[in-house]
Amino acid sequence: MSAEMQKYIDEAEQALLHTYNRYQVVFDRGEGVYLYDMDGKKYLDFVAGIAVFALGYHNEAYNDALKDQIDKIIHTSNYYYNLPAIEAAKKIKEISGMDRVFFTNSGAEAVEGAIKTARKYAYLKDGRTDHEIIAMNHSFHGRTMGALSVTGNPHYREAFEPMIGNIKFADLNDFDSVLAQVTDKTCAILFETVQGEGGIHPATEAFMKKVRALCDERDILMILDEIQCGMGRTGHMFAWQRYGVKPDVMTTAKALGCGVPVGAFLMTEKVGANSLAAGDHGTTYGGNPLACAAVCKVIELLEKQDVLANVKKVGTYLEARLDGLVTEFSCVTERRGAGLLQGLVFDRPVGGLIKRAMDKGLVLINAGTDIIRFVPPLIIEQKHVDDMIGILRECIAEAEGERQ
Ligand SMILES: *Cc1c(COP(=O)(O)O)cnc(C)c1O
Repeated sequence: MSAEMQKYIDEAEQALLHTYNRYQVVFDRGEGVYLYDMDGKKYLDFVAGIAVFALGYHNEAYNDALKDQIDKIIHTSNYYYNLPAIEAAKKIKEISGMDRVFFTNSGAEAVEGAIKTARKYAYLKDGRTDHEIIAMNHSFHGRTMGALSVTGNPHYREAFEPMIGNIKFADLNDFDSVLAQVTDKTCAILFETVQGEGGIHPATEAFMKKVRALCDERDILMILDEIQCGMGRTGHMFAWQRYGVKPDVMTTAKALGCGVPVGAFLMTEKVGANSLAAGDHGTTYGGNPLACAAVCKVIELLEKQDVLANVKKVGTYLEARLDGLVTEFSCVTERRGAGLLQGLVFDRPVGGLIKRAMDKGLVLINAGTDIIRFVPPLIIEQKHVDDMIGILRECIAEAEGERQ
């Protein structure tokens, strides 16, 4: 590392709050599926800013759309209409089949909105103020107090107790564990269609269908968090679309704006007409013209570039290559995931491997301590998968060698 890069890292450590153990690199620019640090070193990127930069870096059409919008207007207020928000709302309805959308600034805020929607929906039915939400163990929904309250990882929650009340936890893909938590106060069942941070666990079709039937029977809202697994990542615009099971409420963010901070929660007409009303919810920035110009361009480019087809093709290839590592190395125990959201499970912590890969110019990230997560830009090609596997194999072999 250059003395200059070290100097900037030292300055960062003097100024930024220590909420992250950061890798020792300052990224400076990106091109397609590659990142460059300030010393000019090139990295193959299998993280995409954690499932955000789906279109690849330095996408000219996307950059131009943002520049055009900046020259027109960046912000007004949700008290007025603006063209990018109208266009973005129409487009997101089209790709999701949902009816109503509220734009937020982040994923966590989308989850907050979904929670408020569920509570208000139930409140309008029976006037009670003690409704319960069932969330899943090992889930991740964000760091704000409401989103944290439904995050099924005590480690994230403990120091910040008390959480918002009346949240119960069940196990993903264990329908009986959900059923055991249902009462006449249950207003929502909330889960990620594919658990991301919690270790890349896809919901099964049987689980999705049983939860849907239960929610229909008891008029409970089914809320799917698609913040990480949505926007094309699994080869479907939203991961639930492959099951033919539609939620009542869903959240999205991460790749929605491909780097411009924006999220959304969406709902069916029935929920929209019977939950949040004027004055119930708001945001100063959410869905501002700049953010919505990004959303419009992202959706347009995902469609124009036929990104879903690419995800299906390259995702299948990535699965096969990762399965090869499971066969080849005894320390690699399992592969899980869908499309370009994959996890490789090791029998030990993966932090050392990820550092080794960084040294060799490959950016990877974990999901939990023992799992490497693969969430590359969705425009990645087979040759990039081959390059990634080549470097990762080297890293695993070296680590194995040193242990013996
Ligand atoms: C990242 C993530 C969030 C939180 O999104 P932020 O934009 O970081 O607030 C919520 N849910 C899931 C599934 C996520 O992956």
